[in-house]
Amino acid sequence: MNKYVINFPQEIVENPILSETILETGVLLNILRAKVDYNEGTIVVSIMGDEETQKKVVDLLRKKGVVVNKLKKSIVNEEEKCVSCGACIAVCPAGAISFTKDKDIVVEKEKCHRCGVCVEACPRRSLSIQQFE
Ligand code: SF4
Ligand code: SF4
Repeated sequence: MNKYVINFPQEIVENPILSETILETGVLLNILRAKVDYNEGTIVVSIMGDEETQKKVVDLLRKKGVVVNKLKKSIVNEEEKCVSCGACIAVCPAGAISFTKDKDIVVEKEKCHRCGVCVEACPRRSLSIQQFE
């Protein structure tokens, strides 16, 4: 399972592309984040299955005209700024953040949607979303 960002151009934003793809491939997609209006759409999904299965889904989505990229972002904590207040833990909708026994912050990448809610909530500007390879 990996997470992907799907961008819908304006001319196909109203097409039921995700539903069609699920039906045609039989592979389940889990929508983690969606921002869609009449002009464009951006959706973050996790695609179940091994690399070959994911490639089949990504290829079909691209054939249908959407832009698909693997999500290569991660939450980074600058530990020297963090005061262990727990605000990020309280707001995370995915339950992806926890304290270690030393009160350091740990983010579980598999659970994180990269929604940025914790970044906004941190009073110390200790958290950020950064690109990784
Ligand atoms: S980016 Fe969102 S899902 Fe990820 S750790 Fe922060 S609040 Fe949780
Ligand atoms: S909200 Fe910021 S300062 Fe508070 S625990 Fe989280 S990372 Fe640390």
